[in-house]
Amino acid sequence: MVVRMRHNRSQTRSRRSHHALKAGALVVCECGASRLSHRACPTCGRYRGRVVIDMTPKAKKGDKAQAQK
Ligand SMILES: [Zn+2]
Repeated sequence: MVVRMRHNRSQTRSRRSHHALKAGALVVCECGASRLSHRACPTCGRYRGRVVIDMTPKAKKGDKAQAQK
């Protein structure tokens, strides 16, 4: 038996009153873009002033195969 089946509508809605999503805490990155706090920047790939994600565009598979020939 599911929790939902043991409750009336009022109890169900009261429980769900806490289920709303809140907006994430946005901060401005050192590159100028807004990002989520405590997350690496999706624009420049930095976290705490250090580059943690390589954001340079990678060559496609076809390009690499053609370059070797
Ligand atoms: Zn950034």
